Amino acid sequence: MTLRLHNTLTARREEFRPLEPGVVRLYTCGPTVWNFAHVGNYRAFLFYDLLRRHLAVSGYRLRHVMNITDVDDRIIEQAAAAGVRIAELTARYEQAFLEDMRSLRAQEAELYPRATGHVEDMMLLVERLLAGGHAYDVDGDVYFRIASFPAYGALSHLDRAGLRPGARVATDKYEKESATDFALWKRAQPVDERVGAAWEAPFGRGRPGWHIECSAMAMRYLGETLDIHAGGVDLLFPHHENEIAQSEAATGCPFARFWLHSEHVSDATGAKMSKSEGNFTTLRDLVAAGHDPLAVRLFLLANAHYRSKLRVTDEGLHAAGEQLRRLRELAERLRRLEPGLRADDAALFQAVQDGRDAYRAALDDDLNLPEGLGRVFELVREANAALDAGRVGPAAHEALLGLLADVDAHLDVLTAAEVSLDEAVERLIAEREEARRARDFATADRIRNELRERGVQLEDSRDGVRWRVTRR
Ligand SMILES: [Zn+2]
Repeated sequence: MTLRLHNTLTARREEFRPLEPGVVRLYTCGPTVWNFAHVGNYRAFLFYDLLRRHLAVSGYRLRHVMNITDVDDRIIEQAAAAGVRIAELTARYEQAFLEDMRSLRAQEAELYPRATGHVEDMMLLVERLLAGGHAYDVDGDVYFRIASFPAYGALSHLDRAGLRPGARVATDKYEKESATDFALWKRAQPVDERVGAAWEAPFGRGRPGWHIECSAMAMRYLGETLDIHAGGVDLLFPHHENEIAQSEAATGCPFARFWLHSEHVSDATGAKMSKSEGNFTTLRDLVAAGHDPLAVRLFLLANAHYRSKLRVTDEGLHAAGEQLRRLRELAERLRRLEPGLRADDAALFQAVQDGRDAYRAALDDDLNLPEGLGRVFELVREANAALDAGRVGPAAHEALLGLLADVDAHLDVLTAAEVSLDEAVERLIAEREEARRARDFATADRIRNELRERGVQLEDSRDGVRWRVTRR
């Protein structure tokens, strides 16, 4: 089977293969932690999750880096208004982001580097660009010279005639109509010093512009050429265009082979959800309104293809909750079934096998989860009817369990909530006791080591086994 992904760079669906066989180097733009992320942000983050999971289903190991932007114009503004240092402001929202990601069951990236922890890498990159003539210094501000990079605009298919050589912009965002030289480094202002957002650099004290962090951190952890760079479509210009310019001007090699972009989320009226416009809904708002976070997950993942706009409505969220209920109900019915007692329905078995193939083919076709699930829900109906009629025997039972497992490899909504550390540890201790009673000391030792790796120390005492956490 061949995985095909829509590459923004070529505006085509292309067969995906990583540079190094078996391993995918993936970089995704993460949250700016100045506020609670809104569901539009989470749609992009869950799109990354879908991509991750399908790459894993396709047999790849992942090296996924997602940055945390913890210094930028808005963070400094917000920290100054609250009279705190940026680290204090961002720690709180980073924590909220990670909690939200857990309640949405987004798999963790292998690495979440923070911008403020990588200023040195950014300085080195800026120095390289200065040395190569791709950047210039204006009174302590350093700008990227887009005239020095002829490919500027290739990703967003920008008409280069609209470029204005020499025009400069210091803010982190700007309009496509006026593509201009952008800030790599900004001279420290009194407010930066007040909130702890200034660093010593060879080209003067200051702070990095927003765009440079992704280039520096991606290359630091994943090398000079990534397999896939993904982000929300609002980052396409100027952010991703600037990432390419900075990276490729410095290294001379392609920065990312595949660029993937997920579409906007709009509110019930159809207006793009955005924090600066004030029309945004957070995950916490939806949960407070009674929505199951996993229904929100299903809605954001599967209500529309990732490259189509998605309108958040109450009806849509309720419909996702209903889909969730149907999947869980079928899983439960299959769990309780004793299929050995029934004759098999060959037609049902075949329909489920075909459905599994169709589901996989839809996912391989640019992650078309909505299409794949459409067929799955038809099968859920057929399976329930067959169960009602007592027509599900061993083969169809197994095929249906396989179908649900295929689907849950992406959705991850069928397993119960994660057991607490206490429950997990108690269970392993009981298993170890069992193994020791059976004189299976290899297993007992393996369990002890596994616990140690989780930071749990066992102490055998006369009263039985005690345990304590030595680290978290
Ligand atoms: Zn980025």
